Amino acid sequence: MENADAKLICTMCGKELDDWDLNAAFHFKRYIGFGSTYDLSIFEAHLCCKCFDKILDTILPMFKNNPLSEYEIVDEDGKLICKPIK
Ligand SMILES: [Zn+2]
Repeated sequence: MENADAKLICTMCGKELDDWDLNAAFHFKRYIGFGSTYDLSIFEAHLCCKCFDKILDTILPMFKNNPLSEYEIVDEDGKLICKPIK
């Protein structure tokens, strides 16, 4: 059972996640299936904002097609939602 008071730390740098990091919620969990050298592993990382940016700065130049796009936050009937900008 997880301790609700336990502090989350950045998996990459070990820093305790602050309010900015927690609001950004850079939490990634992926069960890795067959076809990878990491078959049957679970990738899970909680990242601070700086480490998330560091990873994107590193991997984005590797992509042939840009995986980034922009979105806007719109108010729909009092509910804020994220909508991709086309
Ligand atoms: Zn970090």
